[in-house]
Amino acid sequence: MSIPIYTYDAIVVGAGLAGCAAARELQNAGKKVAVITKLHPLRSHSGAAQGGVNAAFSDEDSVELHEFDTVKGSDYLADQDAVEFMCQKAPETIRWAERMGAAFSRTPDGKIAQRPFGGQSSPRACYAKDRTGLTLLQTIYEQAHRAGVKFWDEWYVADLIYKDGKVSGVVAFNIRDMQTVIFNAKSVMFATGGYARSYKINSNAHANTGDGLSIVARHGLPLEDMEFVQFHPSGLSGNGVLISEAARGEGGRLFNSEGERFMEKYAPNALELASRDVVSRAILNEIREGRGVGPRKDAVYIDVTHLGKDLIMEKLPELRDLAITFLGLDMIKEPILISATAHYSMGGIPVDIAGRARKNNTEFIEGFYAAGECSCVSVHGANRLGANSVLEALLFGRFVGKTMVADIDNIELTPACEDDAKTTLAEIDFILKNNGDETIPKLREELQQCMTANAGAFRTKETLDMAIAKVKELRGRFKNIRIKDKSTVFNTELQEAIEFGHMIDYSAFIVESAVARNESRGAHYREDFETRDDENFLKHTMAYMDENGDITLDYMDVVLGKHELKARTY
Ligand SMILES: Cc1cc2nc3c(=O)[nH]c(=O)nc-3n(C[C@H](O)[C@H](O)[C@H](O)COP(=O)(O)OP(=O)(O)OC[C@H]3O[C@@H](n4cnc5c(N)ncnc54)[C@H](O)[C@@H]3O)c2cc1C
Repeated sequence: MSIPIYTYDAIVVGAGLAGCAAARELQNAGKKVAVITKLHPLRSHSGAAQGGVNAAFSDEDSVELHEFDTVKGSDYLADQDAVEFMCQKAPETIRWAERMGAAFSRTPDGKIAQRPFGGQSSPRACYAKDRTGLTLLQTIYEQAHRAGVKFWDEWYVADLIYKDGKVSGVVAFNIRDMQTVIFNAKSVMFATGGYARSYKINSNAHANTGDGLSIVARHGLPLEDMEFVQFHPSGLSGNGVLISEAARGEGGRLFNSEGERFMEKYAPNALELASRDVVSRAILNEIREGRGVGPRKDAVYIDVTHLGKDLIMEKLPELRDLAITFLGLDMIKEPILISATAHYSMGGIPVDIAGRARKNNTEFIEGFYAAGECSCVSVHGANRLGANSVLEALLFGRFVGKTMVADIDNIELTPACEDDAKTTLAEIDFILKNNGDETIPKLREELQQCMTANAGAFRTKETLDMAIAKVKELRGRFKNIRIKDKSTVFNTELQEAIEFGHMIDYSAFIVESAVARNESRGAHYREDFETRDDENFLKHTMAYMDENGDITLDYMDVVLGKHELKARTY
């Protein structure tokens, strides 16, 4: 079968906020750009963002406070030059989104309304009710479409064409009929989103399987700070579906089985609005010590009844619907059951502020860029503050698009050849034809259970070693899989097998990076090393994988700045 080769100036993989914003910049600059996405753009996880997007522009707030809160929230691991860039450009980004058509909720006197979020000194999250991501994604997608961006939706990117330090395209197949195609381009951007699906209890869409990260890592390229996985305090009990921080931002209170407002013990000043890692650990601690609620005693209550029906219907209608649908509980009338859920991934493809991807601590990869949740720039360090991620995706998506425009004329196209697709074709062939006795749902369940139990909000060397052994075991058993669907039409079983391969690879990065970090910082909490150790670990992890799946670790300096290291209390 011959493989068609399509040529573009630039390829953007992913059509969430980061991908759409970048593609629009490229198109408007007259570049020939294609966005490839395994989902329809509007089904990207950006559309699930509920609570808000940060920008300091009220009279009581300042860019400097936003920077300080972000750096403190990151437990001082964020690169302060990137944080400064993001916080300074945030107000302009909100105005830009508004000019493009995003309708934000407003105060009675007509200003953009802002709600408080955890770890923030001032109400800073701009929102569109509790459908902020959906509003923004529809706006940016429509504008990209209007500009003439070509979207290849329901196409799955399976490989990156990377040779001699340079990227020159991707290999993708049409999910509809398995047609494999090479997209040859001068530059490629990954905006493939988050990857909390390797945890059993998570808030993420089914598609968040970390494909982009593993595709990059398989070429021996680094992933940064993978040990930092954020657990959001409020996932619906049992399934982890997100109840946005907006619920606590608007005044929601947490209670244990003894009716105690337990955050008074853990964060006496900020209470429920301490940063996410702090609140999540408090909840899990209450449950571990026997003060959980619900039939399995594995949840705590969040109570918003005192806010009243009008406010809930005005500002949190989506959250109310979710609790009614999944738990049969109406938050207007009663408290609902929540617990911590794997939510966001601070680590990812290492990039500089301009979005250029790193080959190692000092060199960059020609023609390769990343933005949004799959990247690590790093503005979130060891823990992200709520409403800083939609901001990151929108803002860096747009600015990395501009970087690509600036770079593109200096990059020469390396022509692709059919041979570039051979790894992808071999992978598909293996999955279709292999005749073992393992099934993907079973292997995936084991991975997710193991990651939640052993690499979750609390970790020790012992639990992480168990997780490392399990990931290795699953890598071996993956060679022995069999899928039932051998067809080439919407073969979702085949796609899930490819995705599971990615989940194994990036999970190996999470657990190997975590076991080597003998300290507690932000979302990475080691019960055997309970304090932050700036002397030995104020540094980014840079991890590399070889052909056998073995990981080696290196470290990179953190960019410090005007916000000096302090103990983090709320
Ligand atoms: C439930 C929920 C609520 C949230 N609420 C907030 C909030 O209120 N505020 C906030 O700041 N953050 C929030 N976040 C986080 C934030 O929404 C995300 O970090 C951000 O939207 C990610 O945007 P993105 O463009 O990087 O990726 P995404 O929007 O996830 O898009 C990823 C894209 O990559 C494509 N893709 C992936 N793999 C492949 C492949 N192999 N081939 C082709 N295409 C591929 C997908 O099709 C998709 O288009 C929330 C997250 C969740 C899960």
